[in-house]
Amino acid sequence: MEDKLAIHGGTKVKQTPFGSGSRFGVDEVKQLAEALEQNTLFYHSGRKVKQFLEDFNALYGISYSVAVSSGTAAIHTALGAAGITVGDEVITSPITDQGTLVGILYQNAIPVFADLEPHTYNLDPRSIQSRITSRTKAIVVVHLAGNPCDMDPIMEIARKHRLIVIEDCAQSYLTRYKGRLTGTIGDYGCFSTNDFKHISTGDGGIVTVNSGLEEDYYTVHAFADKNYRRFGDQVMKDLTYLAPNYRMTELQGAVGIAQLKKLPWICKRRNRYGDRITAGISGLKGILPHHVEGGNTCTYWFYMLRIEEKQFKCTREEFSKALISEGVPNSAGYIPMPVYMQPLFQQRTAYRGSHFPFELSSTSYEEGSCPTAEQILKTAIRIPVNEFYTESDIDDIIKAVRKVAIHYSI
Ligand SMILES: *Cc1c(COP(=O)(O)O)cnc(C)c1O
Repeated sequence: MEDKLAIHGGTKVKQTPFGSGSRFGVDEVKQLAEALEQNTLFYHSGRKVKQFLEDFNALYGISYSVAVSSGTAAIHTALGAAGITVGDEVITSPITDQGTLVGILYQNAIPVFADLEPHTYNLDPRSIQSRITSRTKAIVVVHLAGNPCDMDPIMEIARKHRLIVIEDCAQSYLTRYKGRLTGTIGDYGCFSTNDFKHISTGDGGIVTVNSGLEEDYYTVHAFADKNYRRFGDQVMKDLTYLAPNYRMTELQGAVGIAQLKKLPWICKRRNRYGDRITAGISGLKGILPHHVEGGNTCTYWFYMLRIEEKQFKCTREEFSKALISEGVPNSAGYIPMPVYMQPLFQQRTAYRGSHFPFELSSTSYEEGSCPTAEQILKTAIRIPVNEFYTESDIDDIIKAVRKVAIHYSI
């Protein structure tokens, strides 16, 4: 006999609280105290932001990166340093945080949305190819939820059409594509250390400079610092180009040093837990697990499965509610709709009282323009995964999904 669902008065699967823990500890406190003892919190005078970047570069095996004030700032900085400007088209993903898009529009460039692969939720290279025009200058790939995009064909398309590739790694720390770390494959990799990501400095971000050229490093650095060019004791303040102030402070750098030490453990646990959920729910009728291509490593910022509604006697919303009743928190869907359905794109109003830069472009933001992305958001169930969860928490998540799926199966 099948178990009675908790939503119908049965016993719920999850009987113990989820594992939890403290993200910050004595190491962060020690680093912060040292930062204050320096008697300066300015990144160029102190040691903390510099150490944070040195540690990050060592972890990633790269020569150059720049610290900034957020993930949004990181992407804007990469675009600005790459010379993306008025009327340029930038191809990106319709399922992302709006931070991916802000920098594109501040450069007065035009976001163009390509469709996604149905099971990795990442950009489909064939769709990218179909969106290329004579105005295309860059691709901002989003490695959603810690799962890498299919970078080989994307880099091949970029080389063929001479496009800049920026990797949005805000959700994908220590993610590997065929063994290579995401954020080191395109021209620039952009990370966020906001409070919701794998590691937190309150707010903050990092841009990797993958050409390995010192000159490119200085260009990125200048774009994040009002075009001040600081080399050792020298400061060049000549204002050649416009650039915002996206500097990171020593307090953020200090916390970042301590957080980076925990990052490999955090990613290892998330990778293990996400892959275990997939193994536990694979083969269930109507359940489409979060797919990771063979040879890749996903560090699950969250776990997102899809359901095939025609295989169930319930809707996606009912499935989600039944799972909550079993004691497994989840949400029906991720963002409510693809980003191009937001008023900013529908009304073409990036700036109050203006339609610039949209009026330079004939790009369409119609419903239906990325059908797979729209389907993903209508059928997804997102389950949080956390490094503090225990192995038995993962067992319970699997049990609950199986119980609900089997109950509602037609
Ligand atoms: C969080 C996030 C951003 C923006 O990062 P902030 O630090 O909040 O500015 C950009 N892209 C994606 C995919 C994100 O998840």
